[in-house]
Amino acid sequence: MQTNAPSLDAWYYDGLSSRRQPVRLRVSDGHLRLDGPDGGRDIPAADVRISEAHGTAPRTLRFAGDDTYCEVGQGTALDALLAALGHRDSIAVRLQNRWRWVFVSLASVGLILAAGYLWGLPWGAKHIAPHVPVAVMRPLSNEALAQLDKYLLKPSALPEARRRKLQDGFRELAAANPALLASYGDGLDLDFRAAPRIGPNAFALPGGQIILLDELVALDIDDAEILAILSHELGHLDKRHSIRMLIQSSVVAAITAAWFGDVSYAVGAISAALLSTGYSRDMEREADDYAAGTLRRRGESPALLASALEKLEAAHLARRAGKGHDQDDDDDDENYLDWFSSHPDTAERTRRLREDRAGR
Ligand SMILES: [Zn+2]
Repeated sequence: MQTNAPSLDAWYYDGLSSRRQPVRLRVSDGHLRLDGPDGGRDIPAADVRISEAHGTAPRTLRFAGDDTYCEVGQGTALDALLAALGHRDSIAVRLQNRWRWVFVSLASVGLILAAGYLWGLPWGAKHIAPHVPVAVMRPLSNEALAQLDKYLLKPSALPEARRRKLQDGFRELAAANPALLASYGDGLDLDFRAAPRIGPNAFALPGGQIILLDELVALDIDDAEILAILSHELGHLDKRHSIRMLIQSSVVAAITAAWFGDVSYAVGAISAALLSTGYSRDMEREADDYAAGTLRRRGESPALLASALEKLEAAHLARRAGKGHDQDDDDDDENYLDWFSSHPDTAERTRRLREDRAGR
């Protein structure tokens, strides 16, 4: 006697009418036993066909040789009965259940990766960046500059005297930041280029070179304001922002390369990261703070950076408006480099600088 054999209630249909009657199902001796008001019936397990599971709908048990069938609600009791019958779900159903798990696992892995990317990676990069020797960055920097020279930059047409004057100012800025000088040494350098396709801009490469474009010098802007912009760039260098961005994108590129087995992808991604800095808002604020500190130490006002920012913004807005009429020009170059690719909140920044809150 199998007193603890799984059993459960079901509806029995005769297959001729819609009339149904309650029956009790149970498994005994390799047979499915039906007990109802009209008596009992034993069906060999091999003759029982079970419909596939669809969501929570009741499942149908059909019996070989006639049109009668039973409808059974899903649940653990049915699962136990089916197991006792020696029934296994079809491959499709098992796959369906497995896919549900695959999906849940993939979603979890995705969430962990996303969290790692959003928080873990920037955190790690921030803590690793200060320990990366500048000498390691210089070859990468030079390579990036070579790429820029090839595709975007032109030789500067700035008169020698003007360059020398700006160079002198830059050296004074550097001298006002001994720690920066100590870590970048000879790498700290001001270079001149022109870039009609980029417009007024200045940017720092991770090896310590700061590139000042003729288009910026050509604005109605004082040297003191240009130096304020260069101080901001020194801030990006001091806080190692581009090295941080580089570490982040290298990790992503290395993982992607390992995944796809394609190293060229990683190399491409690293170059792209060097060219399109895309600093975060926090990084811009840090660079502003650094510039404000430098300016104050030189007895100048952080408001110099504010007015420089406004002039740059006005110039870029004018450029963009001009481009609106010239459909042939592509805007893609605007995504490169520091100024106004990544300086969205100018009003907030200038207010902070003017109210002398930056770097306090
Ligand atoms: Zn910046």
